Amino acid sequence: MPRAKQGCIFCAIVSGDAPAEILDEDEHTVTMMDINPATKGHALVIPRDHSEDLLSISEEDLCHTAVAAQRVVKRMEETLEPDGFNLLNAARVAAWQTVFHFHIHVIPRYEDDPLKLPWIPRGAEMDGIAGIAAAIRQG
Ligand code: 5GP
Ligand code: ZN
Repeated sequence: MPRAKQGCIFCAIVSGDAPAEILDEDEHTVTMMDINPATKGHALVIPRDHSEDLLSISEEDLCHTAVAAQRVVKRMEETLEPDGFNLLNAARVAAWQTVFHFHIHVIPRYEDDPLKLPWIPRGAEMDGIAGIAAAIRQG
């Protein structure tokens, strides 16, 4: 039995208590169509076991979901024939997470689709970048 959280919509999909358009399943993961697609084919890969986000998911489930995402990307490549792909994960509200069961968005991209890069590339002083890198490395 997968580890489920009461009231979680994605756990309800895993258990079959809520409907979803399933694309792919294995022992550890389920991949479904997103109900509010950003582009044609937008899908979500989730672990069967409930984890809130990237910080709390196990390394094993993170690997399983990444491998499942690549499997779906390869299938979309043969079927939808998009021009590219984005994988996206939102961790916490500040990063746009709205469903608190870990998921990887698989977003097929098309040259004429409306999506835009969500940040403006800005230059920065190399000293500043090096200082932040040092802080992250120190842990
Ligand atoms: P987030 O905003 O957390 O990165 O992504 C959550 C995604 O889940 C959204 O793209 C949203 O459209 C999708 N979503 C929310 N509720 C449901 C649902 O009940 N079923 C499916 N298939 N997708 C959902
Ligand atoms: Zn859940």
